[in-house]
Amino acid sequence: MTHISFWGGVGVVGSSKVLIEEAGWRVLLDLGLDFNPIPPLFRGRVMPRTDQILADRLKAGCAPQIPYLYRPDALRGVDLPGGSDQKTALFLSHAHPDHMGLTGWVDPSIPIFASPETQAIMTALQNAGLGVEGYAPRVQPLPESTPLAFGPFRVSRYPIDHDVPGSSAYIVATSAGAIAYTGDLRLHGSHPDWVQAFVQAARGCHALIIEGTLLNQAHQEPLESEMEHQLDQYLAITSGLILLSLNPVNLERVKTFVTKTRERGRTILFPLEQARFLEEMGLQHIEVQEESTLKRIHHNPQRYLVQLPVTGFPRLLDLPVGAESLYLYSNGEPYGPSDPDWTTLMDWLHYTQIPFRSLSSTGHASASALHQIVRDIAPTLVFPIHTATPEALRPPVGTKRVLPVRGNPGFDLGHGFGD
Ligand SMILES: [Zn+2]
Repeated sequence: MTHISFWGGVGVVGSSKVLIEEAGWRVLLDLGLDFNPIPPLFRGRVMPRTDQILADRLKAGCAPQIPYLYRPDALRGVDLPGGSDQKTALFLSHAHPDHMGLTGWVDPSIPIFASPETQAIMTALQNAGLGVEGYAPRVQPLPESTPLAFGPFRVSRYPIDHDVPGSSAYIVATSAGAIAYTGDLRLHGSHPDWVQAFVQAARGCHALIIEGTLLNQAHQEPLESEMEHQLDQYLAITSGLILLSLNPVNLERVKTFVTKTRERGRTILFPLEQARFLEEMGLQHIEVQEESTLKRIHHNPQRYLVQLPVTGFPRLLDLPVGAESLYLYSNGEPYGPSDPDWTTLMDWLHYTQIPFRSLSSTGHASASALHQIVRDIAPTLVFPIHTATPEALRPPVGTKRVLPVRGNPGFDLGHGFGD
């Protein structure tokens, strides 16, 4: 009997965690930081205590209570068995914190698999001081498409298009049939062909677990390829300093921005840790925000862009900014209007009179694209996760939609479902 349970991404965007069990063996798909309960108890300045981070997260209901997953030394005061049962493996879809942010607490004898690019990004983040909390996880690269036999399972990894390189979808062959997991995906990026190849491979699967971030929104996401043109327009019309919000792991976009701004005679200045990360990932012409460069901005504000993290807002008090400047939001910090720091940003921009413009294209498929993917795969069952509105997924005829519930008891596959 194959059993499936959901330990994150249930009724929330992000933090997907899917546990597939059969004959005592377990495959866990993703292990990110948890956004439950909503709003999370740990936010802003309220963080878990440094000597018991995982224990605080578990007690506050914002890490999954999965036995034989975590390092025993991280579980002090928590009634949950740690260590490994030697029959569990973790597979990561991509290097975003809501999918890999808890891997620093995984017992070291549990194998963690991901794409080679995800492994490289996680290592570079760690080396730059931007890694996950806890211990540095040991991630093993999993080749594309070649199935990995693990107990009764065969796990295949497929490249998928999302807004970080190395993103993957998985298909897990079980005795109940194939279980396909999309990770996070989009059709408006540079590689819709990867998504189509995964759709082909997953066609007719027993269960499809699909992300649904934008299920409740009618708009079409702008194409990633439009970013370059729009950026060029903003560079052409802005006479002052440009503040920037880019996600550094969106390497494709960072490259585009660095190239385009250089063509226009401007330089992007990154915070030190981000610059270290980008250089380790092989990007060129990465400049660091240092006291000396920040002084130069005062002489020639029109020649610079400053990547501004949330903790850097007070820097706006020293920079030559005003109505002639621009704040260009391109899917970095703070992460959208639902981020508690978003209103803080708006207040700072209002105070400093900096105009706000959005140059946004997310890593998530629009609602129509998600429905097309479900129709094309035509699974027996579909589980919408990683969405605030799973009920907005309308399954095609012949597919049964199952709304996931968080944690136990989960679902037995192939033994009659209640919706
Ligand atoms: Zn996600």
